[in-house]
Amino acid sequence: PYAGPSADEILEKRKRFLNPAMFLYYKKPVNIVEGKMQYLYDETGRRYLDAFAGIVTVSVGHCHPEVVGAVVRQTQLLQHTTTIYLHHAVADYAEALVQRMPGDLKVVYFVNSGSEANDMAMLMARLYTGNFDIIALRNAYHGMSPATMGLTAHSTWKYNVAQGFGVHHVLNPDPYRGPYGTDGKLYANDISNLIESATPGQVAGFFAETIQGVGGAVELAPGYLAAAYDIVRKAGGVCVADEVQTGFGRTGSHFWGFETQGVVPDIVTLAKGIGNGLPLAAVVTTPEIASVMAQRLHFNTFGGNPVCSVAGHAVLNILDKEKRQDHCAVVGDHLLRRLKTLQDKHTIIGNVRGRGLMLGVELVTDRQTKTPAKEETAILMDKMKDLGVLVGKGGRYGNVFRIKPPMCFSIDDADFLVDALDYAMSRL
Ligand code: PMP
Repeated sequence: PYAGPSADEILEKRKRFLNPAMFLYYKKPVNIVEGKMQYLYDETGRRYLDAFAGIVTVSVGHCHPEVVGAVVRQTQLLQHTTTIYLHHAVADYAEALVQRMPGDLKVVYFVNSGSEANDMAMLMARLYTGNFDIIALRNAYHGMSPATMGLTAHSTWKYNVAQGFGVHHVLNPDPYRGPYGTDGKLYANDISNLIESATPGQVAGFFAETIQGVGGAVELAPGYLAAAYDIVRKAGGVCVADEVQTGFGRTGSHFWGFETQGVVPDIVTLAKGIGNGLPLAAVVTTPEIASVMAQRLHFNTFGGNPVCSVAGHAVLNILDKEKRQDHCAVVGDHLLRRLKTLQDKHTIIGNVRGRGLMLGVELVTDRQTKTPAKEETAILMDKMKDLGVLVGKGGRYGNVFRIKPPMCFSIDDADFLVDALDYAMSRL
């Protein structure tokens, strides 16, 4: 049984001693003391169904015994020295990870967070091409370091400081709210337009998530990435896929999000679910692009440590053994179908979208004008918590439920989530 301080006491301490930038979603925040696969427990022992996975940070399940076992064994043997010494766990994991990548994406640099991974991708793109300008999408989230805050395109995540020098944001190929509906090619024309008007005609690179996570599970219009990559490469740039949320089979149909659009990027960035809760991230690229880093020395103290490497390696093995990609396809299809049925019943649901276990439910007060139901989303999210289901919230207007549970989420869990949402919406 839990013997620690109460939720109120923790909240009080947090307010006094932790930076106020950290936000809380719930009116009465939950104190999570334990996790087991797709379930979380508060200090009273109450169980919650986790449909957010700590923002996709947990891939194969909270405290998956095989990840825990690998981490404990490695921790007892050796935690970390530095990358100037050899360690087999790091090299073995790098080999296993790049085996999952298509084409010539065969070299990895391990770091600790998605922001660091995207920072490094920006650096490599600039060094490799000799160009400076970088293109990203509006509504994107790529991190909070000074450079990646510039890649991110949400005013809520931008401080009034110098950031994003050389970064340009193009029209978001959002099939629900964008001007060209589902025509990916039309949106891509905006990239040509931007290159012609705002750059020297040559660019360093292009960044995109295939399904925008923080942006509210916005799946890029079909055909967009192929057209975009073509334009960017013709302007001398490299193409970067941010797979921080969409990777590792979560989309069900494919192992990597970019594969859903039939493209092969030049650089792939990975974080969050890659380590199932441990601080691990990676930048995968071709040997040719990676070689530009050898012009100078580069160092990252904790990047590529044995403990996180065995965790990441265990995740890959579990994904295979438990056939998690197929599972995401089956459960995701079921959940998507049930959410679409719910849309027929509740007019507040403007759009249901996504793939596999990376879904979004966008709420509007009027389906014609698509006015964001921001307040209602917050109320419903609280009600869902009271009913024992934790979902995420996001999107430019904070009116999208983000459903991205640990990949072990079952059909029964999906039904429970939809029933809870139905109940909460009926009483709104
Ligand atoms: N890219 C994407 C798509 C993300 O969702 C995030 C985090 N929400 C990041 C990058 C940044 O990762 P981190 O918080 O680990 O720096």
